[in-house]
Amino acid sequence: MNMALHSFAPGGHDARASAPNAGLVADALHLEDVSLVYTTDKIETLALDNVHLRVRRGEFVAIEGPSGSGKTTLLSVIGLLDAPTSGRYRLFDEPVEKLPLRGRALLRSQRIGFIFQDFNLIGDLSVADNVELPLLYARVSASERRARVEAALDTVGMTHRADHFPSQLSGGQQQRVAVARAVVAKPSLLLADEPTGNLDSKNGEAIMELLLGLHAQGTTVCMVSHNPAFSRLAQRVLFLSDGQITKETFGNDAPRPRS
Ligand code: ADP
Ligand code: MG
Repeated sequence: MNMALHSFAPGGHDARASAPNAGLVADALHLEDVSLVYTTDKIETLALDNVHLRVRRGEFVAIEGPSGSGKTTLLSVIGLLDAPTSGRYRLFDEPVEKLPLRGRALLRSQRIGFIFQDFNLIGDLSVADNVELPLLYARVSASERRARVEAALDTVGMTHRADHFPSQLSGGQQQRVAVARAVVAKPSLLLADEPTGNLDSKNGEAIMELLLGLHAQGTTVCMVSHNPAFSRLAQRVLFLSDGQITKETFGNDAPRPRS
């Protein structure tokens, strides 16, 4: 597949090279004592239970855990789609737990890209229009939008399908478009919720390759995965159970926490 990642480097400015001291890596995100309670019809669900998590800039973290353990909720909090019920959250060194909705939306559109298990492309927009959408939110000029959409589609090898609609594509192709959409605004942080969950192994591997390539370019990645073969490619794997991080394992080149 086309891996023209050199032409497209989202989040590169956040790479380790920008840390003030060699070996000292700044945080991309820092959750302290974060809990989230969902309340529906008098039923309260403690979806996150006193979570402490620091992710370094440029780190690739995988999250595993049984269904209902809070993985999606954790990504939603990290991605500013959900606010914690209690606790503190610093995203790129900025406290965000009290940010108003508009501020959260702005920060999200500037710094965060999302990839979901079921692709979430908009059915009546073409591939190119789907990928362009985040740039419209970010008020990028038309000529810049065209160039960025082209580069993003090239990165995922989908240039030849720019005028197709999602229903005309295979699952693997749709997810590649979703990756292009997630990175077109050059996010510093890429969040992926079971991005290979609906794909066969060959297409899953292709998406994994894209994520690893983006990580190599300096993007911080948090990925939920049910597939240990994929999560073990991350620098660190977190295990969630009943809303708590119960275990973490480190890969060989992982930046280890100092505290
Ligand atoms: P996972 O992604 O690990 O399967 P989730 O984060 O989706 O888990 O869910 C964690 C818990 O929170 C589950 O018990 C789930 O039923 C509950 N939950 C998730 N979203 C909501 C919601 N919008 N309203 C109420 N409960 C929810
Ligand atoms: Mg989930």
